[in-house]
Amino acid sequence: MIVKREKLNFWERLYLPALVGGFKVTLRHFFSKKITMQYPEEKWVVPPGYRGAPYLVKDQENRTKCVSCQLCEFVCPPKAIRITPPGPAGTPDAGNVEKGPKEFEINMLRCIFCGFCQEVCPEEAIFLMKDYSLTGTNRKEMIYNKEKLLSLGGIHQDKIHKWQHKADEARAQENFPVKEI
Ligand code: SF4
Ligand code: SF4
Repeated sequence: MIVKREKLNFWERLYLPALVGGFKVTLRHFFSKKITMQYPEEKWVVPPGYRGAPYLVKDQENRTKCVSCQLCEFVCPPKAIRITPPGPAGTPDAGNVEKGPKEFEINMLRCIFCGFCQEVCPEEAIFLMKDYSLTGTNRKEMIYNKEKLLSLGGIHQDKIHKWQHKADEARAQENFPVKEI
């Protein structure tokens, strides 16, 4: 189908009315309130509940909370998580904690910030933080390893103290019958 081109009238061929109209719009915005943000000097304040990058957290005793159960790796839709378990030997010198991951990597280029890893984690060891500004100069830099994830996640002030309860329960069982709580 051939669409016939409309003929421009005299004023339209001059382009002056269109130029004047364009300048009017520019001038109107020039004196109005600025709504653009000067990023990165100005940072966006994320709303509560915002789901940013997932990082690993430590407990109050500075221990890695992750016990390498690999549930998050299994559930992650884009397969962004890769965990290397410690193996059958585990890490017996890590206090009362069963075991931790030998390596834990998240490919931030793959992550879709869905939050499934946080939802599924039985240890509350991984949290989606408010970080949305992830940059790197190459693809390899965007694969965050365990050290980086832990340093970004920091200490989690949880109220559960799971490993403390486990130690208390174990001590209570030594003095059978078990102390009633
Ligand atoms: S937020 Fe979603 S995509 Fe990202 S690592 Fe967790 S489960 Fe995977
Ligand atoms: S982060 Fe949580 S779900 Fe993932 S391996 Fe560690 S303990 Fe399991």
